[in-house]
Amino acid sequence: MAFLDQNPALGYPLAAGFGLLVGSFLNVVILRLPPRLEWGWKRDSREMLEIPDVYDPPPPGIVVERSHCPHCKHVLSWYENIPLFSWLALRGKCRHCKAPISAQYPLVELLTMLLFVACVWRFGFGWQGFGAMVFTGFLIALSGIDLRTQLLPDQLTLPLMWLGLIAASDNLYFGAKPALLGAVAGYLSLWVVWWLFKQLTGKEGMGHGDFKLLAAIGAWTGLKGILPTILISSLVGAIIGSIWLAMKGRDRATPIPFGPYLAIAGWIVFFWGEALVDGYMRYSGLK
Ligand SMILES: [Zn+2]
Repeated sequence: MAFLDQNPALGYPLAAGFGLLVGSFLNVVILRLPPRLEWGWKRDSREMLEIPDVYDPPPPGIVVERSHCPHCKHVLSWYENIPLFSWLALRGKCRHCKAPISAQYPLVELLTMLLFVACVWRFGFGWQGFGAMVFTGFLIALSGIDLRTQLLPDQLTLPLMWLGLIAASDNLYFGAKPALLGAVAGYLSLWVVWWLFKQLTGKEGMGHGDFKLLAAIGAWTGLKGILPTILISSLVGAIIGSIWLAMKGRDRATPIPFGPYLAIAGWIVFFWGEALVDGYMRYSGLK
């Protein structure tokens, strides 16, 4: 690992390649996890409501089943399945039926690649850099799923929180106490907003997945990271939300998923939180 730190000409391309591979796996998680979960919920609901079983085969698994074209079912060969490059070489079309392939694939792969390089650039080649990649990968998967389905599955938010707490128990970025308090404060702060909004308007303005995501971010950024994450996510949300409204003229009542804004803000705070807070304090004369 120290060798890679001293030879960035080797280290950075390695991190980029690893990012492409992980990005390609995250695409599968984003597309296949929600239908798997819904399938399970339906099966459990039938059981609970004592509705007779119907024939309902499970959707494809995340690890086992090979990738195929959703249009013509043609199974992809290895050279059609190379992250980023295959999509570019095929110009975004299936080689067999010429059906368009979603731009989500190359975008997620490219994003993961760039952010993984940022991880080793900021935290080095070691456990800190690897932890940053884990945090980044979970946030990309959660954002993608929230954008597509308005879900933030417990199957991702809760392990992300536990991983943050485990990392802190070994003092990876800071100690266990700030991580634990960060997780609690993250959950409670959005829960309070949700509860007040419900008392005042009778509506549920936010999903419980948002509380759990901020709890997970709190475990990775510490108690100090919660307030900056909330502020930055509101800012990012206001900017992207108004661009979105201007472009699409979307009905104001339609909920826009909040998870990606939390993820972007949490990522920024994890990377540069202290520098941001410090800069703000200096700028505003508080320090
Ligand atoms: Zn096809």
